[in-house]
Amino acid sequence: MPRFALLLLTCACILPAQAQEPASEDWHNSLITVDTHIDIPISLATYGADPGIYGPMQVDIPKMHEGGLDIGFFIVYVAQASVTPVEYELAYQRAQQKFAGIERMLARYPDRIRLARNPEEASQLLAEGKLVAAIGIENAFPIGPNLEHLQEFYERGARYISLTHFGHNDFASSSSSRGGAEGYVEPEHDGLSDTGRELIRRMNDLGIMVDVSHTSAASTIQAAEYSRAPVIASHSGVKALYDHSRNMTDAEIVAVANGGGVIQLVAFDTYMRDVSEPNREAMNQIRDEFDLDFSSASQELLYEYRLRLAELGAQYPRANIGTLVDHIDYVVELVGVDHAGISSDFGGGGGVEGWDHIGQSAAVTEELISRGYTQEEVEKIWGGNLLRVWAEVEALANR
Ligand SMILES: [Zn+2]
Repeated sequence: MPRFALLLLTCACILPAQAQEPASEDWHNSLITVDTHIDIPISLATYGADPGIYGPMQVDIPKMHEGGLDIGFFIVYVAQASVTPVEYELAYQRAQQKFAGIERMLARYPDRIRLARNPEEASQLLAEGKLVAAIGIENAFPIGPNLEHLQEFYERGARYISLTHFGHNDFASSSSSRGGAEGYVEPEHDGLSDTGRELIRRMNDLGIMVDVSHTSAASTIQAAEYSRAPVIASHSGVKALYDHSRNMTDAEIVAVANGGGVIQLVAFDTYMRDVSEPNREAMNQIRDEFDLDFSSASQELLYEYRLRLAELGAQYPRANIGTLVDHIDYVVELVGVDHAGISSDFGGGGGVEGWDHIGQSAAVTEELISRGYTQEEVEKIWGGNLLRVWAEVEALANR
């Protein structure tokens, strides 16, 4: 993007003040911004995890205002376990706990944040001065082996579903074989299974976005080709920049873009940079010291844990906002500006130097502008692309 940067620099000197790029923080606040991946504790909106106060969570209502974040996809995440009837039932119950957390937040703060079930509702709510919550399900596992809970989850507001998490399941192969009580398991199918295709058909019919973050390359490409509507990668990185199992190959990025979809580049430190062995050891040491159960640990303790990891950055530089925008740049150069977006994975391990909580979101805009992106391009990256895809998925379902 240096070409644009140069142009911007030149213009700033010769144009009258009102025609210059406005101060990015003010302008940032006027943008419609979407973060497609915000993990939640099962205790959300109870005493220990109150989204109504400026607290230790990386995302809460005051920080959404501070960072000018308009629309957040709050995540019903369920880990992959063995594909047995008992584990399916437990997965369904865990999903219930996550839905309940989001529903408590919405019930407790109806004047401040509301659920949107489609992009029109989202813009209506924003016009009324509300923040917007949308719901994504991370891992199709709790849907059930015969998709028995899909309709219920749709009715409760789920508008994207990731086909897998870490670990293969009955729907698709994952980018990582971790999962289940047996530990590492081999996939039963390379890519989508017949049930996985059936799931995509029904998601297309209902108007739920298909999410290919966490899937294997074969699953991603097959899903992008099979889906009648554009697909998203709700929180992923670029493999060409850092060879991590969670990152996408060029072929995957091209497949998603060819279908009209969008890749939401994720601010996840250890997916984005080479972590040296001593750095990894130091991180593991902190992990062992805290020995956290993430689903039940207090938000204060999690905050302290994140702080300790961040402090390691003095010794071993972490990924920063520049690294995140490197990943955005790569996708933009490969497939164009209509196919890149932003996600934080806050609450689920996300956060980079300079963007450690949602209140700091204006800094991402600043970096994009400094790289030479135009305002129109930044609007697309910060939410325009995702909202376009959501509207197309919705329109297909309505037809
Ligand atoms: Zn994830």
